[in-house]
Amino acid sequence: QSKLQGKNRYTVFNPKTELAITTFNNKINALSEAIDNEELIFHFQPKVDVVRGQIHSAEALVRWNHPTDGLRLPGSFLEATEHPDLSRKLDGWTLATAFQTLERWQTAGHSVPLSVNIDPRNLASGWLHNELKVLIGRFETVDPSLLDVEVLESTDATRDRKVGDAILDCNRLGVTFSIDDFGTGYSTLTHLRNLPATHVKIDQSFVQNAINNLEDLAIVEAVLGLATTLNREVIAEGVETKDHQNLLISMGCSLLQGYSLARPLPETHFLSWQAQFVPDPDWARLMSLSKR
Ligand code: C2E
Ligand code: MG
Ligand code: MG
Ligand code: MG
Repeated sequence: QSKLQGKNRYTVFNPKTELAITTFNNKINALSEAIDNEELIFHFQPKVDVVRGQIHSAEALVRWNHPTDGLRLPGSFLEATEHPDLSRKLDGWTLATAFQTLERWQTAGHSVPLSVNIDPRNLASGWLHNELKVLIGRFETVDPSLLDVEVLESTDATRDRKVGDAILDCNRLGVTFSIDDFGTGYSTLTHLRNLPATHVKIDQSFVQNAINNLEDLAIVEAVLGLATTLNREVIAEGVETKDHQNLLISMGCSLLQGYSLARPLPETHFLSWQAQFVPDPDWARLMSLSKR
């Protein structure tokens, strides 16, 4: 009688599960409060165009400036965004902060395109398109084509058939897209064809292993060939060493991101890195020898 009625229907009796739920709820509340208390900040990591010898754009990566733990990386708190409400709350913060940043940089005279990471579920649902419209209206001076949205390839939401149309809707507002961590998900030809993103980011695992492993090298080669055929630009992520740089450039990959160029940096450090940036003379030499 009683168990099947009222709000006790879903009572969890397994104490382990109950503890997991409590822990998860605590994480959700903590991150939600961190957003309200303005404890989140961006670090910025450049993507470099080695052919043109210039900075292509920057990726904004969230950090939690925690009052007692210090600087926390997304891997330690993004789990809470499995909850759809919190995912929208974080992405709302991310987009608003990106527009504020673009406005600030523009006022200071440096217009660097900015990429943000957004949960593909918020793209598929149409939420992103709406949110972008609101922000474009609010930040009238910001050129929306300076904003790029990175979506992970590896999630079910990205395979949702609505995603292609949602991307096109946002493109009409001027916003571009990049497929993040390409190669780790359902990297089929059809899938890539159906995702109208301008950029494809090869996952760092392939980039790093291509040095020693012929299969990873073949994957990088294949992604470069396919993306070029489909008219997408390829960005290599996780370029950690000069050897990685040399290999990718000789394969004709001209957009590089990784520790060997710059780590994700706090805003003031990023801006001074940018002001002091000089292209490496090796880039042009290697590029002229490349196959592509
Ligand atoms: P991602 O978008 O693939 O970002 C690249 C990650 O690789 C970043 O880690 C970056 O710090 C790291 N990285 C960059 N260069 C190198 C390198 O040369 N070597 C190595 N080993 N790592 C490198 P981070 O900042 O910890 O971010 C992890 C992930 O968290 C991101 O992966 C992204 O999926 C997610 N994320 C970051 N910021 C946000 C955000 O604002 N919103 C959402 N929803 N997700 C975010
Ligand atoms: Mg990313
Ligand atoms: Mg990535
Ligand atoms: Mg990643």
